[in-house]
Amino acid sequence: MRLAALLIALSAACAAHAQAPLPQSALDAAAQLRERALADDTGYRIIESLTTEVGPRLPGSEADARAVAWAEAKFAELGFDRVWTEPVTFPKWERRSERAAVLGAHAQPLLVTALGGSPGGTVEAEIVRFPDFAALDAAPESEVAGKIVFVDFRMRRSRDGAGYGEAGPVRGRGPSVAARKGAAGFLMRSIGTSAHRVANTGLTRFEDGVAPIPAAATSLPDADQLGRLLERGPVRVRLELDCGWNGEYTSHNVIGELRGREAPDEIVVIAGHLDSWDLGTGAVDDASGVGITMAAGRLVSQLPQRPRRTLRVIAFANEEQGLIGARQYAERHAGALAGHVVGAESDFGAGRIYAFNTSARSASHALSAQIAQVLAPLGIEFAPDRGGPGPDIGPLAQRGMAWAWLGQDGTGYFDLHHNADDTLDKVDPEAVRQNVAAYAVFAYLAAEAEGGFAPAGGAD
Ligand SMILES: [Zn+2]
Repeated sequence: MRLAALLIALSAACAAHAQAPLPQSALDAAAQLRERALADDTGYRIIESLTTEVGPRLPGSEADARAVAWAEAKFAELGFDRVWTEPVTFPKWERRSERAAVLGAHAQPLLVTALGGSPGGTVEAEIVRFPDFAALDAAPESEVAGKIVFVDFRMRRSRDGAGYGEAGPVRGRGPSVAARKGAAGFLMRSIGTSAHRVANTGLTRFEDGVAPIPAAATSLPDADQLGRLLERGPVRVRLELDCGWNGEYTSHNVIGELRGREAPDEIVVIAGHLDSWDLGTGAVDDASGVGITMAAGRLVSQLPQRPRRTLRVIAFANEEQGLIGARQYAERHAGALAGHVVGAESDFGAGRIYAFNTSARSASHALSAQIAQVLAPLGIEFAPDRGGPGPDIGPLAQRGMAWAWLGQDGTGYFDLHHNADDTLDKVDPEAVRQNVAAYAVFAYLAAEAEGGFAPAGGAD
């Protein structure tokens, strides 16, 4: 009886051992890598370099080209085995000037910023307020025609950014819906949480067949002001935007690679995006993602030998206007996507990472759990069934690549996202070190492992 129990226990232990995709030596090396990362400031220095030397990086701007040259030089300086660029072509949107004012008895300036994708134009009209997108969507044309629509939705602050998803339709679809109902212009309370007098830009997309109208966002204090003015009677506003689409531009994804020692055609991707909006210097969105992933790759490159698989660090072009670099990467590499084992993107600011998960289920769960074990001392919990691919990983994940999620605390992210406060002083060097440590551990172990992260039902 006791012998039988022992045999069962032994066979269970052997089965568990056979399933473990990473040997103890790899876990030990990853733990050392983690500790080295926590004492290394390469990530912060990269963020400082990009935001200082290039500044804001609006897709298609003169700074876009400088950012590409910067990234190529930085990958080379950091010692990657191979550095190259891949062209990414997209329509170019320009911001030239933007101004707005309340007219009449309570005349005063309003702080606004044009939404990406807005046409230029000057409109002067009474504003009509809606509390959210659904109310605008349900409004009859008679209520909207000839007016400046003002959507006054308040975004909710949250750690995981859920409030951003809830607010999304206001900016993404609001201008189009307003235009279809005959509005003269569109104003919105910024999708953001900052009490500062800063407005948050971001892309809007006009549906086919709709004549685009000038579309802008106000700061939260300006939106509050409009609300108080509306309590006193009708409010007329003048909105003057000089901006719009202007031809095509070709930028580049910039890629730095560490070639795998045993399985070079199997690729682990970690990424950020090189472009930014133009109001701040794009420090948290997304110089941080670029710095965190480049620095993680650099740390892996300093190990005595290359991991089994290839590690590719990608600085994607033009994420902000529709994941354009990521989509073109997925098309260009469609024939090699089976070799892309897993990908993770850092694009949620510079806050500490608090959770980890991958798209792997049952069959590959053991590998994710082993990685989580090395991440745990960083204050990162294993959170099965949570998270998802970062934005630029999305097009690859849609084609079947597994994703990993290193969930950052985004409680303060939307104080800075897409507005003029997104500057280097908001980046905490200690949080960056924690992020770099987590990405280095993940990238190294994913590249060192046997087997992959296939989702449930898929082959490993
Ligand atoms: Zn971003």
